[in-house]
Amino acid sequence: MGISLDSIEVKQINGVSAQKQNELHAFGVFTVKDLLEYYPFRYDDFRPRSLSEIKHGDKATLVAKVIGIPVLQRFGGKSRLSCKMVAEPWMFTATWFNQHYVREQLTAQREIVITGKWDQKRNAITVTDYEFTDRGEGKIGTLQPVYSVGGKITQTWIRKIIHQGLQQYGELIPEILPHSIIRKYEFMSRKRAIATIHRPEDTREGQQGRRRMVYEELFLFQLKVQAFRVLNRGRMDGVVHTVDNATVRQFVRSLPFELTDAQKRVELEILQDMRSPYCMNRLLQGDVGSGKTVLAAIALYATVKSGFQGALMVPTEILAEQHMRSLTKMFEPFGITVGLLTGSVTGRKRKDLLASLQMGMLDIVVGTHALIQEDVFFRGLGMVVTDEQHRFGVNQRSILRRKGYNPDVLTMTATPIPRTLAITVFGDMDVSTLSERPKGRVPIMTYWVKPDLMERVLKLVNREVDQGRQAYLICPLIEESEKLDVQNAIDLHIQMSQAFPHYKVGLLHGRMTPGEKDEVMRAFYSNEIQLLVSTTVVEVGVDVPNATLMIIMDADRFGLSQLHQLRGRVGRGQHASFCVLVADPKSEIGRERMTAMTDTDDGFEVSRRDLELRGPGDFFGTKQSGLPEFRLADMTADFEVLEQARDDAAELLKDTDFWTSADYAPLRNYLQNEQIFQGDIID
Ligand code: ADP
Ligand code: MG
Repeated sequence: MGISLDSIEVKQINGVSAQKQNELHAFGVFTVKDLLEYYPFRYDDFRPRSLSEIKHGDKATLVAKVIGIPVLQRFGGKSRLSCKMVAEPWMFTATWFNQHYVREQLTAQREIVITGKWDQKRNAITVTDYEFTDRGEGKIGTLQPVYSVGGKITQTWIRKIIHQGLQQYGELIPEILPHSIIRKYEFMSRKRAIATIHRPEDTREGQQGRRRMVYEELFLFQLKVQAFRVLNRGRMDGVVHTVDNATVRQFVRSLPFELTDAQKRVELEILQDMRSPYCMNRLLQGDVGSGKTVLAAIALYATVKSGFQGALMVPTEILAEQHMRSLTKMFEPFGITVGLLTGSVTGRKRKDLLASLQMGMLDIVVGTHALIQEDVFFRGLGMVVTDEQHRFGVNQRSILRRKGYNPDVLTMTATPIPRTLAITVFGDMDVSTLSERPKGRVPIMTYWVKPDLMERVLKLVNREVDQGRQAYLICPLIEESEKLDVQNAIDLHIQMSQAFPHYKVGLLHGRMTPGEKDEVMRAFYSNEIQLLVSTTVVEVGVDVPNATLMIIMDADRFGLSQLHQLRGRVGRGQHASFCVLVADPKSEIGRERMTAMTDTDDGFEVSRRDLELRGPGDFFGTKQSGLPEFRLADMTADFEVLEQARDDAAELLKDTDFWTSADYAPLRNYLQNEQIFQGDIID
């Protein structure tokens, strides 16, 4: 393959000492390739303009001539240097701050190119950069890249070094995209694109370079994700579920409600996948309360009736307990057994459970992370369902999956993912969407009130409870401190118990033992507790249809998706429901969150706004999202390119030439390096 820029240390570039090389490491720059792909985040425009085009406040570059005598004023340790200039036919004043040494150079009639901010009223420019035409450094007339630098690495130095790097190694930058794609989009070559991003001739050319590299980043990512799936599908067959329609009907008929049209559609999609030899990898997304659980139940039922076992993994013990209860109730009439495996199932109980799982005496296991421990074995795991998917790391899901022989996988999420992200994060994972909520649901009314109206909020609690309903009161979130959150909850619980002596106020927080939490939840389910004071432990999944009031204290401290999740705890039955956000936001983002929540209760809209406010990197929380980081591409702004890249990658992988033709060798090498052929680094 010739020399790879990947294997050449930056030190090899003239002007980079061993010491400077070390300093570059801090910026993730180790090799020549890294350096050449260290792109500027903007450009300074040193192309001269005519004064007539420049507006007040603009930063601009002008070619001018010195006509006045420079005047230097000193005050304290500072100085101001002013000089009359002419940029034919206009006269103006140029001002330098704290650069008194420029005075000597400002000789009459000398030509100078100055960059700075234009002040129309004072007819003056404050100089930030200048260069004399007779002693230029070559900045003039160019767009100068601006890199993210710091420490001993200066802007001027890195510009010089990257330029040098391009001179020495630019010709060795390999092409990676196939001719067909380069032709299709009329892309410039890779080496020209990279060079032009660092030193664009003009704005248009710079954009062309960027266009090509953005596409490349997104295309390679899509190729990687999709190649992985294609290879997996080709190599390993999934479980074929044989359950027939009549058997499934029996179960569906036993439910206390009729499936919504959306649920019926998704049911078909799931069953179709299950019966096929392909390994199902389906994401089920639906707003809170859209009825996802029953689809998980159908999938688990179908796997058991086909002779396999099923696992349901959820992020919290409370949720595991809840699912355990509801599945047991649903499956009992069909002789299907359900077990619970969480961190608090230990000793004898745990041993027995593991044994019956391994021997195939237990059909379904519901649990938390405890399910992915090493000593958990199945006799024949055919279906893995994970609920509230975004809380699990990519690895955790694939560990569970590997406990079976390519079981089908259904991932459920209540945080509807904007299409932008779904397409990126999940590659060609199939997506089912529950677009409607069950009939008869009354929309949730959301109010935003200032804390001084708390009295009236508490009256609302009274009213709901008097009508036989229940309420949640969520405590303020103290960042980084679970301990303070808990203290808040305890304090609030005392206050509420005093405020409502005539009914029972419960308390729930993360520091309670699983047994205690379970006891409180059980009491809340059975309406022994009417008002539940809680931290965010009830955020996901909790389903108490009789609860109609959700009050969130200091609501502006919560993220938008989190608020929507909390709100989703009510409005799950036939009764009118309310969400009250108590907040006096100090920040703009806090106010925007409150407005977004009162504007809409559509989860897709909420997550779209959340994405806008937070940016994609933050959207899924931590690194576990598997969200790639791009150097140039921006998933929101470059969404259309992402879609194109996705389709192109899919088409290319279908082409048998892809695996043989020389035109695709660089792409195959890329996949090889990304270890697509060896392991499952992507879920
Ligand atoms: P989520 O999508 O938030 O997980 P759940 O599956 O917990 O929602 O369902 C919310 C509530 O709606 C539950 O109480 C469930 O029993 C009920 N439900 C689900 N499907 C229907 C339906 N088709 N008709 C009426 N109620 C339903
Ligand atoms: Mg749920």
